[in-house]
Amino acid sequence: MTTRHHRTCTLCEAMCGLVITTDGDRITGIRGDADDPLSRGHLCPKAVALQDVHTDPDRLRQPMRRLGDRWEPIAWDAALRLAVDGLRRVQRAHGRDAVASYVGNPTVHSLGAMLFAPRLVRALRSRNRFSATSVDQLPAHVVALQCFGHALLIPVPDLDRTQHVLMLGANPAASNGSLMTAPGVMDRLAAIRARGGRVVVIDPRRSETAAAADEHHFIRPGTDALFLLGVLHVVMTERLARPGPLESLMTGLDALHALAGRFPPERVAPATGIGADVIRRLARDFAQAPRAVAYGRVGVSMQEFGGLATWLITALNLVTGRVDAEGGAMFTRPAVDILRADQAGSRPRFGRWTSRVRGLPEFAGELPVSALAEEIETPGPGQVRALVTHAGNPVLSTPNGARLDRALAGLEWFVAVDCYLNETTRHAHLILPPTSPLEREHYDLVFHTLAVRDTARWSGAVFPRPPGARHDWEILNALAGALDGTVRGRLEGAVLARLGPRRLVDHGLRTGPYGTGYRPFGGGLTVRALERAPSGVDLGALKPALPGRLRTADRRIHAAPELFLADIARLEARFLAGAPGGEEHPGARPPTADLELIGRRALRSCNSWMHNSERLVRGKRRCTLQMHPDDAARRGLADGASVRITTPRGAVTAELEVTDALMPGVVSLPHGWGHDRPGIRLGVAQAHAGASINDLTDDQRVDALTGNAAFSGVAVTVAAEG
Ligand code: SF4
Repeated sequence: MTTRHHRTCTLCEAMCGLVITTDGDRITGIRGDADDPLSRGHLCPKAVALQDVHTDPDRLRQPMRRLGDRWEPIAWDAALRLAVDGLRRVQRAHGRDAVASYVGNPTVHSLGAMLFAPRLVRALRSRNRFSATSVDQLPAHVVALQCFGHALLIPVPDLDRTQHVLMLGANPAASNGSLMTAPGVMDRLAAIRARGGRVVVIDPRRSETAAAADEHHFIRPGTDALFLLGVLHVVMTERLARPGPLESLMTGLDALHALAGRFPPERVAPATGIGADVIRRLARDFAQAPRAVAYGRVGVSMQEFGGLATWLITALNLVTGRVDAEGGAMFTRPAVDILRADQAGSRPRFGRWTSRVRGLPEFAGELPVSALAEEIETPGPGQVRALVTHAGNPVLSTPNGARLDRALAGLEWFVAVDCYLNETTRHAHLILPPTSPLEREHYDLVFHTLAVRDTARWSGAVFPRPPGARHDWEILNALAGALDGTVRGRLEGAVLARLGPRRLVDHGLRTGPYGTGYRPFGGGLTVRALERAPSGVDLGALKPALPGRLRTADRRIHAAPELFLADIARLEARFLAGAPGGEEHPGARPPTADLELIGRRALRSCNSWMHNSERLVRGKRRCTLQMHPDDAARRGLADGASVRITTPRGAVTAELEVTDALMPGVVSLPHGWGHDRPGIRLGVAQAHAGASINDLTDDQRVDALTGNAAFSGVAVTVAAEG
């Protein structure tokens, strides 16, 4: 019998509403839900991976224990006992900081993990906490915290009402939008153009998004902050700044004015590769558009000046009156408001302590993951000797993955909560696999907070969990409860286990902005109410939210925090001729290097974790090194050649793809590949292994301000193989 299930897709940030049809335990169809008020029927080719992951014979379905090179199944109770005993043993012998944790990207796509992973991390009481945040969007959190007072107060482009988008280092055609939940994003961008607006893309690669834009300009990797300073210079000096109604709330406008004055387009143009006349025109176009928004993503945040560049995007939006304005950069009013739950004052801080070996700053209690390998390898008090991971594959997703790969092999104890035996978890002593996503209920806690429209949608489980299987939150809660050791912690664990994710979301809805508490006939949002609207409810377009939503202590918007102003000297030293220190910067190109490497992403891929779906990896080879024809000709390389890419950290081989979509001097390799390591259980991925970009990147190369990994602009040499 065919059954229809309404479900939010949990594979990327877009939160597409789906209708999944099943016949017994078989999925017979997955299509977009036309009634979803946010996604309006959109889905992308990746949606089939929901089925492929669910039915994947390689997906682990019971706990596995490693004995040397061999894995054997182990019963749940014994596995949990073993996990806790091993972690306690290391803590007793070497102290709490000897046990580290790493939380991977898929965690934010699981309701249970979002609610319970923090509990496990807290229970470990270790300063060595890591996550995928510091190889991705950490600069956005630092900027949100500094300017608006909370790490999650990240303004979202009001795409559906804007007339002008200035987009840097983002390729929503492949990512479907990031820190900007916008299903069907290319339709939304096309609509801007259809109503007479403009989409301008700044990127070292003419990405799929850039190809569909009105205008695209190549920029040298890592120089976005300089470009933005040039734009700000024009806006400030030509009296185009119009901060609008928020001006009285802003501090730092004078400092911003003084800063911008030092960076005329003529000064920054040579380093960026964008002409001064173009910078001037782009600045005027942006400032004079009736509704406009500047937006940047991974190309901006994953670089040596990710913090500065991300802040300057916000600064540009602020001085031109785009923040909290229709068609600009607005804040959501989510039905379960994570910020509201944070009223008690547990706001994330920044730089309260630093990593032991290199002194990188913590953020929200986490250290940059670029420091993980050295924290494992370097002897001394606080050395990491054990690790707990949740849904992560840092060997492929963090810089200098080969070093981390080696370091993980030396751990005394490693527990992975993960459904795959991958390049990272192959080093674990114990793997605890949760149920498949389709066996769990879902509500998106994070991406409703970052969406271009306020909506709410509850998803029931498509399949019942198999007998004996455990949900991620149950595993995490069990580990946390056993490790916590305090009466309070145990009680909390017992209460949370009783409540479970559904009742926690229900509480969040009832006490959120559209809830009416626990009044029996209040009529506000509850899980029950959402179940009666299986395609989700529309809560409307984004609305002005300031000053009410500000969380700064003085309730002001800080347009020019000192933290960023102080980092300008480093930028000048790195790129602008004559500035002191430029020669000695550790990120400077080595003398033999002649190309700069950037990453890229494809629509049919998502980080490292969707390569075991045959339907997504088949077809044209995707893990190619893209290079401009002039650079290829200079090296005598032809399209399709096998090339060796080398950095001081390592070397990989890839097929060359010659294309003028790359800026001359820049090459691009996608991230998430490199499934040729032994001992993994990912049959399809192994057959399409590709090369890992992170066998080339450098764990020592970070944005010194935020600690985010600097993947973009890595100096490489490329030559014909052999
Ligand atoms: S765009 Fe993202 S959320 Fe939508 S179907 Fe594709 S993977 Fe799923």
